[in-house]
Amino acid sequence: MNSTITKAKQFDKKQRREFYQSKYDYYKSFNRGLLIVSTIAYITFFFTDCGIYGRFAYETIIPRSIVLLPLFVFLFMYKKTSNYKIMNIASYFMVHIIIWLTDWSTYILPDREYAGEGMIVMNLIFVCAGFCAPFRYTLIAHCGLIVDILVANLFIKYDDVVMMLMFNVPCVVAVCVMHNIMEKVYLDHYLVNKKLEKLVVHDELTGVYNRNKLREISDPITEELNVANDIPVTLMIVDMDFFKKVNDKYGHEAGDIVLKHLAKVLLESVRTSDYVIRWGGEEFVIILTGCNIDRGSAIAEKIRVNVENSDNTICPATVSIGVTEYNGGSYHIAIECADKALYRAKTSGRNRVVVYNEQE
Ligand code: GH3
Ligand code: MG
Ligand code: MG
Repeated sequence: MNSTITKAKQFDKKQRREFYQSKYDYYKSFNRGLLIVSTIAYITFFFTDCGIYGRFAYETIIPRSIVLLPLFVFLFMYKKTSNYKIMNIASYFMVHIIIWLTDWSTYILPDREYAGEGMIVMNLIFVCAGFCAPFRYTLIAHCGLIVDILVANLFIKYDDVVMMLMFNVPCVVAVCVMHNIMEKVYLDHYLVNKKLEKLVVHDELTGVYNRNKLREISDPITEELNVANDIPVTLMIVDMDFFKKVNDKYGHEAGDIVLKHLAKVLLESVRTSDYVIRWGGEEFVIILTGCNIDRGSAIAEKIRVNVENSDNTICPATVSIGVTEYNGGSYHIAIECADKALYRAKTSGRNRVVVYNEQE
């Protein structure tokens, strides 16, 4: 995530989708609660109908109770999907259904004096529904309220539709402005979270991933890597040769420069879909996804040559690499195998690549 992003407009398509999905995920249970409460409130207006009639208002039983049907559909969808686009459309559809059913009840009722107040109350539901929605959705859906009033007026003939619009239009404008501001507030919260998430899985010195990344991309119980679709996978450990001597001879800060340079060479030698992880000190674990052991050991050799030929500005440096194929199971087992191969690379002269052999 680009840390200079301050406006949702600066996102590319994928970032925008992630942002709105996160916004929906954050507020979705609030939104579900709102729709349940709104539906119940709408049904209890049946008692108001009884008050208007001065008797049991059997005429509005159907328009008042049928609202449960779309609510159940919404709740079913809520269980089945978390897609922010589908669910925000469903949510606003539900709000409009409540409006249409209110129109239906109003059409039946003998007294329409309170219809104006009823519509103003609907703005409250729009206030809450907009929290989890992209601003564009709020704008379109809420302007739809004005369309609803105009269309309903063709059938209902409100006592004073002009006054109704004069009350509702400012409400729509105010709520939309508020939601635009709220979206910016959520953006701040989102960017801070993204920054923290990034810090948690990155090594401060070298900028590559740290061990937490392995936890993030693996099952917490079995420790199996979530790269099932990318099998075969090659895992390797890269360890700098005689690094202690670099620190001893040139100082710790120079050692840090050498480490940073090594991390850069490693990143440049693999694809962006691969993982370069600082395992500790001057040891790096690299996971090459969708890469069998033959191709993996060729890449390890390329890394070895790249390190040997690159200039870190301090001193010549080489690495030893232990490589193994990962075919599922705990990643710790694969790391142990790569470590054994690395040990052989060290004991057989360093600056070399050794592939793990099961006979070892
Ligand atoms: P070998 O070829 O057998 O791997 O020898 P080596 O000297 O590289 O291995 P050893 O494990 O003995 O030394 C690793 C050194 O890495 C020791 C430690 O001081 C240094 N080191 C670990 N983390 C850092 C760091 O963040 N910065 C610097 N500058 N040095 C570090
Ligand atoms: Mg070393
Ligand atoms: Mg080491």
